[in-house]
Amino acid sequence: MKALAARSRPVGIALFAFIAGACAPAGVPPAEGPAPAVAPAAAEGGLLPLRYDAATGKVFLTVPRLGERLLYLNTLATGVGATAAGLDRGQLGDNAVVRFERRGARVYLIRENTAVLARTDNPALQRSVEESFPSSVLASFVVQRDGPGGTVVDATDFFLSDVYDVIGSLRGARLGSVRLDRERSFIDSTNTRSFPENTEIRSVLTFSTDDPSFVLRQVAPDARTIAIEQHHSFLRLPAPPLPLRPFDPRSGLFSNDFFDFAQPFSGDYRQRAVVRWRLEPSDTAAYLRGEKVEPVKPIVYYIDAGIPEPYRSAFIDGGRWWNEVLGAAGWRNAFRIESLPAGVSPLDARYPAIYWVHRMQRGPSVGPSMIDPRTGEIVKTVVRMDSYRSLVDHDIYMGLLPAAPPGGLQLTAEQFAMARRRQHSAHEIGHTLGIAHNYIAATQGRSSVMDYPYPLITLDAQGRLDISDAYRNSGGAHDTLAIRYAYTWFRTPAEEAAGLSRIVRDAEARGLRFIADQHVGAAGSFPSASQWIEGSDMLTALRRTMAVRRVLMDRFDERAAQPGEPLAVLNRRFAHVYLHHRYALVGATKYVGGMEFGYALRGEQTEPTRILPAAEQRAALRLVLSALTPRELRIPGRIAAMIPPVPAGYDSDLTLIPTPAGTAFDPIAAAHSLAQEIVNGLLHPQRAARLVSFHARDASNLSLDEVITALIETTWGTSTSDVAGEEQGPELRRVAQRATVDGLLDLAGNSAATAGVRATVEHHLALLARRANLSEGLSAADQGHRAAIRRDIERYFDGRDDPAKRPRPAPIGLPWP
Ligand SMILES: [Zn+2]
Repeated sequence: MKALAARSRPVGIALFAFIAGACAPAGVPPAEGPAPAVAPAAAEGGLLPLRYDAATGKVFLTVPRLGERLLYLNTLATGVGATAAGLDRGQLGDNAVVRFERRGARVYLIRENTAVLARTDNPALQRSVEESFPSSVLASFVVQRDGPGGTVVDATDFFLSDVYDVIGSLRGARLGSVRLDRERSFIDSTNTRSFPENTEIRSVLTFSTDDPSFVLRQVAPDARTIAIEQHHSFLRLPAPPLPLRPFDPRSGLFSNDFFDFAQPFSGDYRQRAVVRWRLEPSDTAAYLRGEKVEPVKPIVYYIDAGIPEPYRSAFIDGGRWWNEVLGAAGWRNAFRIESLPAGVSPLDARYPAIYWVHRMQRGPSVGPSMIDPRTGEIVKTVVRMDSYRSLVDHDIYMGLLPAAPPGGLQLTAEQFAMARRRQHSAHEIGHTLGIAHNYIAATQGRSSVMDYPYPLITLDAQGRLDISDAYRNSGGAHDTLAIRYAYTWFRTPAEEAAGLSRIVRDAEARGLRFIADQHVGAAGSFPSASQWIEGSDMLTALRRTMAVRRVLMDRFDERAAQPGEPLAVLNRRFAHVYLHHRYALVGATKYVGGMEFGYALRGEQTEPTRILPAAEQRAALRLVLSALTPRELRIPGRIAAMIPPVPAGYDSDLTLIPTPAGTAFDPIAAAHSLAQEIVNGLLHPQRAARLVSFHARDASNLSLDEVITALIETTWGTSTSDVAGEEQGPELRRVAQRATVDGLLDLAGNSAATAGVRATVEHHLALLARRANLSEGLSAADQGHRAAIRRDIERYFDGRDDPAKRPRPAPIGLPWP
């Protein structure tokens, strides 16, 4: 099937791609929306005319032009409703450039491999690439007849197969193995239509299992048989193909990756192009004069009618921020959000949609897009806004109430929650415009909605809470950079190259930076590139959040629960208070062994790396270690006493802080969990390796030895008797000591630890074993504690340490705010 082997599938692309409309240029639907649907009787017109036979339940496709390349998209129309399954309503599946080929009595649906190509006029070079990689035959259909309109095939089997791979997704999520039950699967004729530019087919698939998993039993009426609908769309390929816009790693945009084997030896076969919608000026002359111009076809999203107020207004307001930002790229009215026209399926590939998604647990919202994999042109999206998020923000808000200033908080609960939702909608929509996360934005004047924001809560001069500026309320300077880079229209490639370089250099000159997902985790070295934290720098942020936390803890009481709510909910509300400084701690810990960096290109301004000054690192270390003192770890007994067990009829959804003490809320266990989190952050193998290497490069840099010494001095430096007078003092001191020893044992035994790191850690473990030997005048609890630690260290040095067997505090999971 060589002739069949034309391929196109993006490599390492974060997005899937899809659709374009028709009668306006480039096959785009007219601004006022597509033609109304036609009634299903005989084969209807359209891109791939189809006929649904109500008697047999079969669906017949007519292929007017064999060999014509089309876009094919597969979407989940209905979901499983469990975060663990990762199968939401409106979830975009795979996509492909496909074509129908006939051989004998059969027609084959060929998926082309768009991930590899040769951009050349030499057909032999193109064929050498085609023949070097596989294509995929997605389906074969029996030809029914050749009609005036084309070749008619029975496509029922293909549409009643698990194209989305629900079976694999459930298996991958360890939710059990299910099988497709064809007997109980059928074509949904109401959502099976053909339009001039696209053909839409919906199928209802039943998956059955004799041994349904707990999660499936939670969400399905009868978990032995669950029905999930899959939606198939065929679209015309956008024409002409959108010119590729070269990708720049500093732009903050997603890239569409592919291999181009026509590149010279001095180049790179792996190529990247920007992912973006097609925006072309309706008046090029006016545009080139620098006037704001309406695009030929604006980007229009259609909002799910099921989204209730106040969310609906919040999502629309937040989304509209992009219309303003697109103005910076010379556009007027380029982005708008409308209601879906009556009778139109939101999964119709011509209607980018904003969807409301429900699950039984808290979970993510998502902004995926479908692109034409040949060019990176975005043609369809279904933004999935989860309905649980604001319940989390309400929990945070309720935890603030007891500490509200006289006169109350500056925002109502709804104002607070919807301010978050405006930013949230702008964020997810930003993804569907091709923009990636930028996690340094919050520390550079909130320069982007593509960061993960935590509500900014400050104390005024009188020490009173202020939440008036909790969230930003517009796009930011880095959003403007990304939009200008992706959506500025240029007449020629030369003007484009010069213009794009000007845009990025301008941003650099203004100090606008971009740090991507892969560099922001807790092991990261760039403090300002941290999630869920506001502030000019992470030390200021940690001091602020620790001060706010102090006020919230001191004032926390049952007012954090609404009248009639079970007081057990205080566990969940208090978790956000107790860990109010968590994200700032992660950010501040990055100073230790800290190094800033930029995605530097040769000949550009970006500074490749900068090790943070030792003085800053030491200041950060002191501040982070201060969070390990009993005063900072302590949960007053009065708060523990307020929290009863979960009442009958309720479940653990009321709690976030686990307790090993059964019915009783255990402040010691929570403190141990926090202490372990702080220690593990400081002793992350990558951080330890940086400390050893930076110190080797310059002895004035902080060393691993200095960090461990400071950690041990903080937790072991003073005896428990020094804190005997403090509530829970001795026990809190012990959990901090235990956390330190476990952190050191884990690092020493970690295969990712370098030899230099292990040697330094083992040196300190040996010292600690001696230190733990001192037991004069100590309480039984202390003596037992120290003896256990000596045994664990000895066990380590005897090679018998089993980290899984050492007692561990349960981590405290916080849902995304
Ligand atoms: Zn995101």
